[in-house]
Amino acid sequence: MNDLLIRGGLVIDGTGAPGREADVLVRDGRIAAVEPPSGRRAHRVIDARGQVVAPGFIDIHTHSDFTLPLNPRAEGKIRQGVTTEVVGNCGFSVAPALPGTASMLREYLAASAPWLTFRDTTFAEYLDSFPPVAVNTVMQVGHNTLRVMTVGMDRRPATADELSHMEKLLEEALQAGAIGLSSGLFTAPGNYADSSEILALARVLARYGGTYASHIRDEANHVFEAVREAIAVGEATGIHVQIAHLKLSGTDNWGKARALLSEIEAARQRGVKVDCDQYPYDTATNPLRNLLPSWVQEGGVPAMLRRLSESGVRARIRADIARNGLNNFGAISSWDAVRVAVSPHQPHHAGLTLGEIARQRAVDPLDAVCDYIIADHGHTRILVTSMGEEDVAEIMRAPWVLIGSDANALACSGVTSQGKPHPRSYGTFPRVLGACVRERKLLTLPQAIHKMTGGSAAALGLTDRGVLREGAWADIAVFDPATIADTATYDEPHQYAVGVSTVIVNGTVVIDGGDHTGALPGRVLRFGRARR
Ligand SMILES: [Zn+2]
Repeated sequence: MNDLLIRGGLVIDGTGAPGREADVLVRDGRIAAVEPPSGRRAHRVIDARGQVVAPGFIDIHTHSDFTLPLNPRAEGKIRQGVTTEVVGNCGFSVAPALPGTASMLREYLAASAPWLTFRDTTFAEYLDSFPPVAVNTVMQVGHNTLRVMTVGMDRRPATADELSHMEKLLEEALQAGAIGLSSGLFTAPGNYADSSEILALARVLARYGGTYASHIRDEANHVFEAVREAIAVGEATGIHVQIAHLKLSGTDNWGKARALLSEIEAARQRGVKVDCDQYPYDTATNPLRNLLPSWVQEGGVPAMLRRLSESGVRARIRADIARNGLNNFGAISSWDAVRVAVSPHQPHHAGLTLGEIARQRAVDPLDAVCDYIIADHGHTRILVTSMGEEDVAEIMRAPWVLIGSDANALACSGVTSQGKPHPRSYGTFPRVLGACVRERKLLTLPQAIHKMTGGSAAALGLTDRGVLREGAWADIAVFDPATIADTATYDEPHQYAVGVSTVIVNGTVVIDGGDHTGALPGRVLRFGRARR
């Protein structure tokens, strides 16, 4: 029989329960038994003594739809123990692209997906043609993408016709198997939409049992109002709401994490289905252009590039930033807190801060920023250090806040190994298990594992993944709790995490003795939804 036994490990099952010594038997893609150690024989035996055997990690917030077709082995993620990725986040999805719009969508997403090929596609065609990859994927359709398709980059409310077109495209995506809608209300064109547009789309989600994940309207000076807007969607429609990468950006807002968590806890207690996730870093990443006031992007990238050369426009941007801080990121210590990550047209600048670039050129930093965006055709991606470390720790300590990398699957070689992207692509989960659990003791190991397995499965409504129990899909991560660690840094991000020895996806071994087997057993997890 072609079964596999993981013998003698400390099983931490993903429910939050303490670990216990047990053997895990895998057969036909599923977990056939979790049982006290016995002399059972199997076709293949993996010795897990001294190691933790956990459910494979569910990365509940990712952008790997931008890279999995280029890195189907999902190297940087699978080596962390990730077995399922939720993609299509922050309002950005690569489908649908209506006939004749692929190049427009490519231009819009170039600062996030510079190497991906775009094509016209329905959401159903997109799912049907998604290539074989190592990890499972959960697909979302993005509100910004729907708005680009229907309203373009116009800065105004959608007309009734445009809104019903968005509703129809959302329905098509849900019927094809998307789990739900994501929004990115912090940037254009998502933030050209008001709450009523989101509520109308949420009513479509409610009819299909779909979910809503939001990069909220502001993570800095208006973060409390933005969290309330997300909660209100769940309150009005009863759907599940996922608040993405919870944080307080901007030095003025540091120290308010406890108060923000209390608001979300209160909503959960009154029965609103709201969850949130977090990555364990004080630094964010985004397209550089998104740091500017969102009116700058009206009309799309070519219009923005023309506008940024006008001196009156720069004066207006300067005044807006002086008043409100950076869009979504608030006040920063200086432009040295903003660093070039990936710069498709000026790759040699990766790693330099905008402060350094301004000093080199002897120009005002905001002029350096605008000039940089123009020279890089609007495609620059940056890192911005905008969070307080104590807030990051406070959010981490909340046992109900889930873990999501907000990152895409990269590899240390090949097309996705370019630039200096955020190290969270390679390090999120080992950093939680190593730095946060083992070294800083912010959480217990069972709590931390629950935040990346059973807790995420419950938030997504996945009933047969995220927990090690008989009958569940065999998505499994085996790691050494004494050595698991992230090694990726801001200076040298392209480095795989260490300490994960075995990773199994749908019963197939993908990481074996720390090496990738080349197997691509991931599935697109479709959420078949009948209209209610
Ligand atoms: Zn986001």
